[in-house]
Amino acid sequence: MSEAKLIDGNLFSSRLRETIADHVRGLRDHHHVVPGLAVVLVGEDPASQVYVRTKHKRTIEAGMRSFEHTLPADTPEHEVLTLIHGLNNDPEVHGILVQLPLPKHIDSQKVIEAIDPAKDVDGFHPINVGRLASGGDALVPCTPLGSLMLLKDRLGKLAGLDAVVVGRSNIVGKPMAQLLIRESCTVTVAHSQTRDLPGVVRRADIVIAAVGKPEMVRGDWLKPGCTVIDVGINRIELPDGGKKLVGDVNFAEAVKVAGAITPVPGGVGPMTIACLLRNTLVACARQHRLPLKDI
Ligand code: NDP
Repeated sequence: MSEAKLIDGNLFSSRLRETIADHVRGLRDHHHVVPGLAVVLVGEDPASQVYVRTKHKRTIEAGMRSFEHTLPADTPEHEVLTLIHGLNNDPEVHGILVQLPLPKHIDSQKVIEAIDPAKDVDGFHPINVGRLASGGDALVPCTPLGSLMLLKDRLGKLAGLDAVVVGRSNIVGKPMAQLLIRESCTVTVAHSQTRDLPGVVRRADIVIAAVGKPEMVRGDWLKPGCTVIDVGINRIELPDGGKKLVGDVNFAEAVKVAGAITPVPGGVGPMTIACLLRNTLVACARQHRLPLKDI
């Protein structure tokens, strides 16, 4: 049997960012509006610092304004909330992202709920969560949205397909399941209490792995020809002391069984930032009541 096709998230996301940059130019030239994204980072978590730097770079490249707010790790919760209120009222800011995780003394849910839902480009506010679940005009979490774009690009219509989402986090698993329901897939959500996970995964035409366990999904769990979206990002140590990024799927095994699969890195990862820019553009257009073609 031939090897699975690779789903190239680098290529797809760079095209998406070009499309977004074209729309941003259009907004600026025809409406004198420049989308602005504010990113709030509290503390010095090295991984978060890297993400924030990349977001800043990509935002500028897309022609948007980027506002970075870096606060010390011991910033009291009320100061973070005050900053959010200020950003909610700033007309130059159309999207607000608070980099998670926040330090333990800050209630993340309270901070998320303080963000104006119209500027909630991460799609974590209960209003957006509810709108996604009830079929309304939501801002949708970036990683599941990017995963769905890759799936639709590969498979076209998804209606009627069996999809298994492994993982039920608010950030990935649950919104992913909602998006697949919206596409008329038959959706199963698996988690740490699921019985016979390999048997459940084997039924799927579409497998979304969002577990956070390196290479957990094995090749012999997969239905031949299925499409695998590996959301996992795990840094593992090699026997020689080196480090390597791997997904939640055993790629070497899965590539021999699946019809198509996202690599790690270079699959879902780059889609997340591209969708953050997409959400910022959409939020900006909505706030200014300007029409925007679906992207
Ligand atoms: P969480 O830790 O929040 O959720 C993990 C989910 O996996 C939980 O629902 C958990 O079940 C389930 N799970 C854990 N162990 C098992 C098991 N043995 N069998 C079945 N299910 C299990 O992780 P996230 O959703 O935030 O992230 C998932 C992965 O995606 C991580 O590797 C993360 O790094 C990556 N990620 C990648 C992004 C990207 O841009 N590509 C963005 C966000 C995340 P239960 O609920 O029962 O505990």
